[in-house]
Amino acid sequence: MNKRPTLEDIRRAPKVLLHDHLDGGVRPATIIELARDIGYEGLPATDPEKLRTWFEEAANSGSLERYLETFSHTVGVMQTIDALTRVAYECAEDLANDGVVYAEVRYAPEQHLGMGLTLEQVVEAVLDGFARGHRDFGIRVGTLVTAMRHQARSMEIAELAVRYRDLGVVGFDIAGAEAGYPPTRHLDAFEYLQRENAHFTIHAGEGFGLPSIWQAIQWCGADRLGHGVRIIDDIEVDGDDARLGRLANYVRDKRIPLEMCPTSNIQTGAAKSIAEHPIGLLRRLSFRVTVNTDNRLMSGTSVSEEFAKLVEAFGYGWDDLQWFTVNAMKSAFAPFNERLEFINGVIKPGFAQLKWSGARPLA
Ligand SMILES: [Zn+2]
Repeated sequence: MNKRPTLEDIRRAPKVLLHDHLDGGVRPATIIELARDIGYEGLPATDPEKLRTWFEEAANSGSLERYLETFSHTVGVMQTIDALTRVAYECAEDLANDGVVYAEVRYAPEQHLGMGLTLEQVVEAVLDGFARGHRDFGIRVGTLVTAMRHQARSMEIAELAVRYRDLGVVGFDIAGAEAGYPPTRHLDAFEYLQRENAHFTIHAGEGFGLPSIWQAIQWCGADRLGHGVRIIDDIEVDGDDARLGRLANYVRDKRIPLEMCPTSNIQTGAAKSIAEHPIGLLRRLSFRVTVNTDNRLMSGTSVSEEFAKLVEAFGYGWDDLQWFTVNAMKSAFAPFNERLEFINGVIKPGFAQLKWSGARPLA
């Protein structure tokens, strides 16, 4: 029998991350320095540890207003080329230190124009940071450009994704409040991306239910779902039996990836606790589940910590963690050959080594 993976072991496993926001993972010390550089005022603290605590408390407060305020500060200081490049570079370093080997990190270029940058300058600054991160830390990071669902720039952002597709932008996303802003509002952008054979994911089924998931898949043609937790509204559980409705069956049959973010879902109220998070049921029913961080700063988390919490709540072992990881790599927007190389050349050998070294009986 395998030893239960510890956080320390999990950090050494080669991991894959598909849903992570650049403005949700900035280091507190960097926020303070960048604020000083550009004369940004209004940070709630100027000591890194105090600022870190403030972010986590605001995110845990249950107040949407306070949660959104956290992003106004990170986005507020990410308004210059140097700031964007630095934040991307440090993101690559932090993920690499957590054992992530492949990541897709997203951000909304339209939120970084406050000090006069163009959309192109924003995209190029972020790509530059990740390219340097790849050179120094070996981690491969693709970016997703996000359009804000309450704004009207999705077509422009979709065109940006296509223009930079061979330079490190691997896909497109829409984010922001779901209620009142259905994905079909941006149908022209999604149709354009489909005609261009481009990849995209849609934040859907987090705060809002099945109609949002249905629209994202059947109207917009999403390759993946950001969160998608509400798909359980279409599953009836009776003891060990589960009856899937047509949409849930479709999502499972077509192997549509669910980018699940357990800790973040608890903070936004989409789930009550890790133990009650739908990920347990969806994994048991073999949906294409992946494990993600969403906002590492606000949630005080990392991929390894998300895994460790799942190990504790559901008793997962190395096979489960490898299954989530291979699911994520299969679902990545990187080209097929690259995905295969990661799965066979990095992920499987890496997990095999950890399983082998941990293979001693439980005391
Ligand atoms: Zn998200």
